[in-house]
Parts: sequence; C-alpha cells; structure tokens
Amino acid sequence: MPVPLAVFTLLFFLHIPASSAVTDTILPGQALAVNNKLISKDGRYALGFFKTNSSKSSHDTTNWYLGIWFNTVPKFTSAWVANRDKPIKNTTSLELTISQDGNLVILNQCIKSVVWSTQANTTTNSTITMLLSSGNLILRDSSNSSEVLWQSFDHPTDTLFPGAKLGWDKVTGLNRRLVSWKSLIDPATGAYCSELDPSGADQFLLKPLNSSTPYWSTGVWNGRYFPSIPEMASSNMASNITIFVDNDREKYMISNITDNNMITHHVLDVSGQSKTFVWSEGSLDWTMVYAQPKSQCDVYAACGPFTICTDNMVPHCKCMEGFTITAPEDWELEDRTGGCSRNTPLDCVSNKSITHTTDKFYLVPCVKLPQNAPKVEAAASSSECAQVCLNSCSCTAYFFSDGGCSILHNELLNIRQLMCSTGTNSTEETIYLRLSAKEFNKLRNNRKEIVIGVATAAGISALGLFALILLVMIWRNRKKSLARILDGVQGCNGIIAFRYIDLQRATNKFKHKLGSGSFGSVFKGLIDDSIAIAVKRLDGACQGDKQFRAEVSSIGAIQHINLVKLVGFCCEDPKKLLVYEYMSNCYLDVHLFRSNSTVLNWAARYQIALGVAKGLSYLHDSCRDCIIHCDIKPENILLDASFLPKIADFGMAKLLGRDYSRVLTTMRGTAGYLAPEWIGGVAITPKVDVYSYGMVLLEIISGRRNSCSPCSSCGNLGAYFPVHAAHKLLEGEVGSLVDQMLHGDVNLEEAELACKVACWCIQGDEFDRPTMGEVVQILEGQVKIGMPPIPRLLEAMAGSSDQMDPNSLV
Ligand code: ADP
Ligand code: MG
Repeated sequence: MPVPLAVFTLLFFLHIPASSAVTDTILPGQALAVNNKLISKDGRYALGFFKTNSSKSSHDTTNWYLGIWFNTVPKFTSAWVANRDKPIKNTTSLELTISQDGNLVILNQCIKSVVWSTQANTTTNSTITMLLSSGNLILRDSSNSSEVLWQSFDHPTDTLFPGAKLGWDKVTGLNRRLVSWKSLIDPATGAYCSELDPSGADQFLLKPLNSSTPYWSTGVWNGRYFPSIPEMASSNMASNITIFVDNDREKYMISNITDNNMITHHVLDVSGQSKTFVWSEGSLDWTMVYAQPKSQCDVYAACGPFTICTDNMVPHCKCMEGFTITAPEDWELEDRTGGCSRNTPLDCVSNKSITHTTDKFYLVPCVKLPQNAPKVEAAASSSECAQVCLNSCSCTAYFFSDGGCSILHNELLNIRQLMCSTGTNSTEETIYLRLSAKEFNKLRNNRKEIVIGVATAAGISALGLFALILLVMIWRNRKKSLARILDGVQGCNGIIAFRYIDLQRATNKFKHKLGSGSFGSVFKGLIDDSIAIAVKRLDGACQGDKQFRAEVSSIGAIQHINLVKLVGFCCEDPKKLLVYEYMSNCYLDVHLFRSNSTVLNWAARYQIALGVAKGLSYLHDSCRDCIIHCDIKPENILLDASFLPKIADFGMAKLLGRDYSRVLTTMRGTAGYLAPEWIGGVAITPKVDVYSYGMVLLEIISGRRNSCSPCSSCGNLGAYFPVHAAHKLLEGEVGSLVDQMLHGDVNLEEAELACKVACWCIQGDEFDRPTMGEVVQILEGQVKIGMPPIPRLLEAMAGSSDQMDPNSLV
C-alpha cells in the first residue's frame, strides 16, 4: 500500500539544513557542521544531519540524525541513518569529525561527548571519510586508498543500495540485513527485518525482528533468480542484475543497476513489506514497481494485537469490537506495534483451585486465523471449549471447529477478515472473543447481532450437536479429496492436473459465475480450503488432448508479476477447463466505465498502463517462444488486491488452435481493439497486441469506451474518439482527453506521454507502432518519443462509414 500522503505531509515535517560546502570528503582536522553536507561526486547522494519532528505532538520531539539521502530527489528520502536508535536532541555545537583515534564520530562539543562513532579498529589517526558515488560512506587510511576501515554498506538501515551486499561475512560474523523504521518519521529499529536465511538455505527471509518465523521468503536461489521473484528473470528487470555469491569468506546477494539514469529505492518499509520504488521525473514522486509480500495482511502482526486486517480495504487495520487504538499517534505513523487495547479490563480472578469470572464471548464471524493457531483439546462442543477458555485468565479467545478446540492466550495477532461467503469457504472461522460482561452488554445493545454468551452456549441441543458432527464429517471428506488432488499430480511446471469432479466440487457445481466470454464461462472456486481460483470452462472446439496438455504446460511455465498465473487444468474428453489464480478486484472495465465503482486516480492508471505494457513485453520478448496475446481488451486486464494489473487469457490461441482467430474476428470484431491486420488477412505479429494496447490505453486515459457514441467532450460530434484524441494531442490539448471524473487531478506530462504512446500504437502500419518493450521504456521515461501522426487508416475507416467503430466494418 502506498503511504497515505495526506497523513504523511501532515505529520512528517522533515528538515534538511541548507548547505554551502560541495565536497565528498572529510579530512583529518576538518568537521562537518549541522548545516553542511557531503555530496557524492556524481551528485546522487548526500550525507549530513537531518531532523524529524511530529507537529501533532504537544511536547518537543525534534530528533536529529546523521544520514545519507537521495540528493537529486526533491522529496527527502533517507537511505541510511548512522544513529537510528540514538537521536540527538540538541544541535548546538554538534559536528561530524575524525577523532584522535581515527574513527569518524559525531561530537557534541558542548559536553565534549561522542554521540556516535564508527568504532573501527583503527591503528592510525590519519584517516579520511568519503561519500562514494555508490552511496557508500567509507572511512579509510589517507595514504592507502584500498584500506577501507569501515563502510556504511556494512551497516545498512532499511535500504539496500545498488552495489551493496546483503548477507554474511563468514569470517567476521557480520550480518548485513535490513531492518525497517519504527514509524514513518522514526528511523529507530522497527519491527521487521530482511535477512539471509539463518538456517543456511540460499534464500532471503522477511520476518519479525524478534522472531525466527518468516512471513515471506524469496525461495532458494536457483542460479539465476529467486523463485518467488520470477520477474528477476524477465528482460524488464534487465536494468537490475542480481547475483548470489557463496564462497569461503562470504555469502550474500548484490544487485546492480545497469541503467545509471534510473534512481531506485529498495526498502524494507514500516509496513513490513519489501518494496522497490523508481523515481519518476514525470510525477516527481516515487513509483512503486515491486512489493512483497503482495498482500499487507500477510505481514506478521501487520496491524498489531487485537486487530483485524482486511486486504482490500484502506485503511486495512481496524480494532476488534470492544477495543480501541492504543496509541493513535503512532498508529497514524504506521507504527502498529501497540495495536488495540481493551475498553474494559477482563474480570478474572484465579487462585489455586478455582477461577472466577463473569466474562462473556463475543462472536466475530468470517475471519481467517493465524496459521500457527494452537489446536488444544478435543472438546465436544463450543460450550465446553468456552469453559476451557474461562478457566484460564490469560485466555483471550477461542475457536471451535473440526471437533477441535483452540484456545488463544494473551495478545491476538494476525486475525484476518474474509468476505462472508455462503458457507462454502472453509478457511472461514468464527472466533469467540472474550470480553468483560460490561463491554459485551454494551455491544449487544448496540448491535442486534447473534452473540453467544457462555450460558446459552451450554445449552446446545443434541440435535445441533449431531448436525455439527455431520457437517464436520462432510467437510473433512471434502478437504481430504481436495488435498489429494494437490498431492502428486503436479506437472513439471507446478501445473496441477485436476479431476473434473474436484473442480466441480471446488466451484460448488459451477455455482458462482464470474462472467463469460467468447470461449466459455469463468467460475469462482476454492482449492485446499484457502486458495481462491477462477475456473474457465472452455466450450466449443479445442485442441486435441495431447496438444492441449502440451500447450497448458508450456503456458503454465510463464510467470510474470503482470500475468495471471495458470494454476492448473482439467482435460477429460470432451471437458476442458483451465484454472487460474483468482483476482479479487475484477477487471479494468469495471473500474473505468462503471459509475458506481471508485474512480481510479491518475497514478493508479499510469501504473496499470505500465504494468500491462510490462506483461505484454514479457510475453513478446522474454518467453521461449514469442506469445501473441491476440485479445487485449479491458476485460482481460484483471486487478489484484493491490490494483496491480494482471493480463488474463494469454496463450489462448495456442490452446484453442485453428478456430481461435475465426472466433475472435467474428465474435469480437466489433469491440474496437483488433488491429487492421486481422481484417487484411496478413500474418499476425506481436504488433496486433501493440495496437490493442494503444486502444486500451486511450480508454484508461479517457475513462470512456473508444467505441461509445459521440459525447460532449469530443467537441466534433461524430468523431471517432481515438482519431479525435490524436488531433487533440497535436493541438496540445491533452487535458481535454483525460477522464473528467478525475476533475483535473492528473499529471499532464504523464498524460501527454501516455497519449503519444497510445497514438503511436494505433497506427495503421504495424511498422510505425513501437514494440511493447519500447512502450515500457517510454512510459518509464527512459526513452523519448516524438509526436505521432494522425492514424490515417483509422481516420479513413471511421470517416468512410457512419459507424462509430471502424472494426465494425469486419
Ligand atoms: P472475456 O475475457 O472475453 O471477458 P473470459 O471468459 O475470459 O471472457 O472471462 C469472463 C470474466 O470472468 C472476465 O471478464 C472476468 O470478469 C472474470 N475472470 C476471468 N478470469 C478471472 C480471474 N482469474 N480472476 C477473477 N475473475 C476472472
Ligand atoms: Mg478473459
């Protein structure tokens, strides 16, 4: 999730002192004062003192730090902090200098004390300090430039610099790892860390600082990339080359940027997610290009104790009923360690033999429990389970399912909200939250919902119990059979061969239809009780079985962050089904053209445009055989929980064989996304996707269908929008093309760039269109483009017909 900017600017006032000196070195006898900074030779990084303070706080909380930041970026962004856990309160007579023992120190001249020191084993006092162009601050012998005594790269904060190592020095025991900031404005040691797997596997883990259990891992290095980051193998990441080294002395990874113009920031941020940002000159802001884990709620204790985390909501953290935010100020600064606290303390007194309590249980439905929730004893009923909980004063909640009773003690962490389904989602649990009787009654009076008190729970009838056991048995059976399909039938690419009957079950007999297209219908399902899937039931002619299996496995091997993953398939003649990962945020169409959905802001649109371009570029250039999508349209651009675009339905041409293009041109010929080559009968190249992409891009910009009837914004009544757009672009009136729902809140430079790209893409002659790789580079600002000509073919086609849509001529 991007930082909520409003909060950020409100609370985070960060001061960087004005500077006069322009040097990258401190020599013995010299000092860097509070209002000075070192600047690396290439100007990219600066080192100096900076302060943070919270304007909300009543008492003075100004803290000073020595740090390195991005010098060419107008938005202050720290990349390294020397004294993260020892802020300096008073800046009078503060300086950075080289001390008698040769170490670099922050000195408080007033009280003659050393606030911070590099603490290197120096044998000489003739040392100098230098800020290198890489962003590495080094302390070295003044006469021997190769003898580095200390370097900031060995003590990273939350940021991994290009060219810096992350990992171990086996000889000295040094562990270079990233540790997040405590809050948005506090660089102190925070809650999360990113480090080499302590158990020795060649992988990096994200984990809470004070626990050994990771919440995300990169997967074991396979010689080329980390399996959880398949994008690393793609040409789009070619600007970033990562290597993993394991030798006698060291074990580490290192990433280098090949494109020196690109400013990147790789950070383990306060939220516990590992993120990569690229500075965008267009928007004068950081653009997030990568985040793991993708879902904020996957981060351990993302919202702190006694909270509920909801993936698709902003804000995603909320307190449980009967609780309030412990420290609202920290909470707003994304320091969620305090979580929420009880409004009323529990009433529980325990002596040796007996525990007395008046507490009650409040029912919280449709949640997902932490994976390690303990299953304790087999209680026959929920009420027995409740009693077990009440017998212990430290028990804060219980849940009862599958014949098992789980008792949760002390702080409740990692509880996740699920959408309440109709009972088919068996990861869904109900948690019984222990509250004081007073709080319980208050809530019961407030909301007339089903609540379960201990007394009523005790009276579960025998019939109820029987039904429960029956349900549990059915549920267990289902679970077993679904687990079976996941056992052992995985193909070489991890593609699962499903049995039809299992997919029938997973989709509850194809009950929940997500939609249907030219080649079949798509249904929502659930495998292994937790993984949401989209099952596409193909109808009509298909490839023969053997060919189908071959194509499925080759398509399954294609993985990219902007492509919907094919999880598996089913091929039981004549039934053919494809199983995809489920995308929770519908398809682009819904967000662009439906007035009742939220309006996508400009930054989101630009990211979507870029993501789709990357996905297509990957399909065209990076897979073993070039894959032409052939059916790029908003309906095939799905959005995941964090609005990351994912292209669906790639490889369909291969799966469907000869009939594919016929169906495409006859059934979908009027949709306005098909390149003229489809009509002309010439060979199809990846440029057909470029054309469709251009059409979609125009719709992303304008928020209207290209093919819709003339609207007031077109001015010239009857003009076909893509042609109209090309004219307006030439006239310098990009603003008039942008979706009016944005009310002018748009980055015009980016909008112009996007319009130019779109108009180049929809040129009639495929040789005039850029490749998708070029589109990515243009949108990222790495390559400049000129003004596109009016797409004449399109203009002629639109003009020669009264029809609004040239493709309707097919
Ligand atoms: P089309 O792409 O031509 O609209 P499809 O048969 O591919 O038709 O898909 C129908 C609809 O099903 C899509 O428009 C989309 O709303 C939904 N859908 C397809 N795949 C997924 C998925 N992986 N996750 C969620 N919804 C999906
Ligand atoms: Mg589709």
